[in-house]
Amino acid sequence: MRSYSALKVLREGLRGHTGWQPLWRSPEPQTNYDVIIIGGGGHGLATAYYLAKNHNVRRIAVIEKGWLGGGNTGRNTTIIRSNYFYPESTRLYDLSVRLYENLAREINYNVMFSQRGMLVLSHSEAEMEIAARTVNAMQLNGADAELLDARDVQKKAPILNFRDDARYPIHGAIWQGRAGTARHDAVAWGYARAADELGVDIIQNCEVTGFSIQGGRCNGVETTKGKIHADRVGVAVAGHSSVLAEMGGYTLPIHSYALQAFVTEAVKPVMDTVAFSPMTGSYFSQSDKGGLVIGGALDRIPSYAQRGNTPMQETVLSGIIEMAPALAKVKLLRHWAGNVDVSPDSSPLIGPSGTDGIYVNCGWGTGGFKAIPAGGYLFAHLLATGSHHEISRPFDLDRFSTGRMLDEAAGSGIAH
Ligand SMILES: Cc1cc2nc3c(=O)[nH]c(=O)nc-3n(C[C@H](O)[C@H](O)[C@H](O)COP(=O)(O)OP(=O)(O)OC[C@H]3O[C@@H](n4cnc5c(N)ncnc54)[C@H](O)[C@@H]3O)c2cc1C
Repeated sequence: MRSYSALKVLREGLRGHTGWQPLWRSPEPQTNYDVIIIGGGGHGLATAYYLAKNHNVRRIAVIEKGWLGGGNTGRNTTIIRSNYFYPESTRLYDLSVRLYENLAREINYNVMFSQRGMLVLSHSEAEMEIAARTVNAMQLNGADAELLDARDVQKKAPILNFRDDARYPIHGAIWQGRAGTARHDAVAWGYARAADELGVDIIQNCEVTGFSIQGGRCNGVETTKGKIHADRVGVAVAGHSSVLAEMGGYTLPIHSYALQAFVTEAVKPVMDTVAFSPMTGSYFSQSDKGGLVIGGALDRIPSYAQRGNTPMQETVLSGIIEMAPALAKVKLLRHWAGNVDVSPDSSPLIGPSGTDGIYVNCGWGTGGFKAIPAGGYLFAHLLATGSHHEISRPFDLDRFSTGRMLDEAAGSGIAH
């Protein structure tokens, strides 16, 4: 691999940065591959990387209708955590945190994973009871978790609202110290570069417009650059999963919603962790550049919009001002939305689609950035072997017929 090092950065600095090479090739699609992955977001790119690296599959194409990371992966608020309730969820999300912990070293690309910790606030005695139950569940499931009282929270985040007349007084919080943030574009670019090094063809500006299905089995895709054959097709298109399902003749229990995010002007360091208030649905952290990165709840009405709107802006920002009144005068710099794929039990869907040869990775909804390494790792296993890794098994689509749901509405953190 063309490796990056401090020495190389220094040398390029002295040479006026004239020696850097493109991070990946831009090949024309071949007519045949072993596996095609639709969607050049984090999950699609990570899947391609682990397929090539762990399973030695050589002829892989990632097909992206726009640009890499132009979907939710480049639009999210970058929080990484594994504070879920059920053992199945913790196994999946904690695998992801562990893969993130070594990712920069593994792919030789600085994804800026910063384990600054996360507070999930409790605003009443009743919420403290629920927080204690969650902390116990997390500890039993092997994830790091602590129950903090109000004084502990104040030490970690003095900017929060500890006034006696606060509408939502802070009683304490769930603390996960290994949680944090990473640079979202770098996660997409790093996986793309590492996959390209292993021979994966990354094809941008190429939309999949249909599946080629013969005798009930998929043997390739129709694209704006022509027909491409493959034995197996993996679909990782997040908010557009239902659109692809309709083309492929399978059904998914997915609704797509806009989810908005905000960033403010840069201010001096005021917050070195992540804080989330389930009561208002708002959360924020501070980026390395000083901007406050803010998120909140889903839009109320399903849509394929990828843009913000003012009613949600008012809801989310009033929540932030309630959490930290000192931020009331900070100016908003930008506001945007992604298009997320929400499942009925707020857990992802990984498995065969119902049409032979097509496999899906979707349903990550509001929380799939944190899951990119694990999602890719597990989906690669499924595509390479045709059967589940034991960690992805509970997330198969069959749970909607067996009734064995994984209701993580609280763990996913956002009201649905
Ligand atoms: C505002 C916001 C905040 C969020 N905050 C967080 C957070 O803090 N932490 C967290 O863990 N998660 C968060 N998420 C969720 C997270 O971003 C997503 O779950 C995750 O990025 C999904 O990754 P993906 O690779 O599956 O999808 P995407 O990154 O959306 O990639 C899918 C790709 O498929 C492509 N595509 C679609 N249709 C076709 C087609 N027909 N042909 C070819 N290509 C196609 C799209 O162009 C897109 O690039 C947030 C999301 C949003 C929108």
